[in-house]
Amino acid sequence: MGRPAPICMTDTPIDRFAECIAPAGWQAVDFISDLHLQASEPDTFGAWLDYLQRPSSERADALFILGDLFEVWVGDDVLGARAHTSTDHAFWRACAQALRAYSDHAPVYFMAGNRDFLVGPAALDACGMQRLSDPSVLVLNGQRWLLSHGDALCLADTDYMRFRSQVRDPAWQHEFLAQPLPQREALARDLRAQSEARKRSTGKDPSLWADVDTSAARAWLRHANAPTLIHGHTHRPATHALGDGLQRVVLSDWDANAQPARAEVLRLDARGVHRLPLAR
Ligand code: MN
Repeated sequence: MGRPAPICMTDTPIDRFAECIAPAGWQAVDFISDLHLQASEPDTFGAWLDYLQRPSSERADALFILGDLFEVWVGDDVLGARAHTSTDHAFWRACAQALRAYSDHAPVYFMAGNRDFLVGPAALDACGMQRLSDPSVLVLNGQRWLLSHGDALCLADTDYMRFRSQVRDPAWQHEFLAQPLPQREALARDLRAQSEARKRSTGKDPSLWADVDTSAARAWLRHANAPTLIHGHTHRPATHALGDGLQRVVLSDWDANAQPARAEVLRLDARGVHRLPLAR
């Protein structure tokens, strides 16, 4: 069967957010984020596979991944035949295969998060995904929904904002990707250890981390001419009223080994947004 046709997508000009206009036939779309997929967490990967492999009657018309699908991404060559055969590389290939199989039935859109911002064209292709700018506006049945990973709005975390502007700089990325794969993997381990240390000093409870800035979120929504922002990143699933009929809906992160387990999809259909908990 033919692959699903891409929806109309425009790049983000400076004064306008990117827009995706859903085809008229779409009834439901799913949003997920912050799965932080990694070889060392097979149960979370399993929960995600169960979701991807649900019967077609339960599937949405499209899947939107709003960042941090992968715990880390050091370059698309982790999927290549020349990558060393390691548990990690086999795991990334299994992720790509699962996405590719899913994308035969429904389009998959990928917005980068703060972990997987180095996912490039080759990985998108291997996974059957189309890139989504951060932020983007989804227009579904005439209604507008603003989509973002969310990290760009956590303005109070000034250390992170500095780090973000550094690593999103094309020159930094070019230099990073020019290094041999084992070196990039070692660097990523260092960065991760630093971030874990930061988390230990701030506390493990996500409620202590910087949250989305309300006035920045309101400004984005007004600019997008949309009432609702859907985002991840903060690991604090909730719906927040922002005043004047504006709101933000926060996706859950995934951790199949947490007590209780966290694995949740946000579905948008004619009734609005609702959360589908995934039982294993
Ligand atoms: Mn994140």
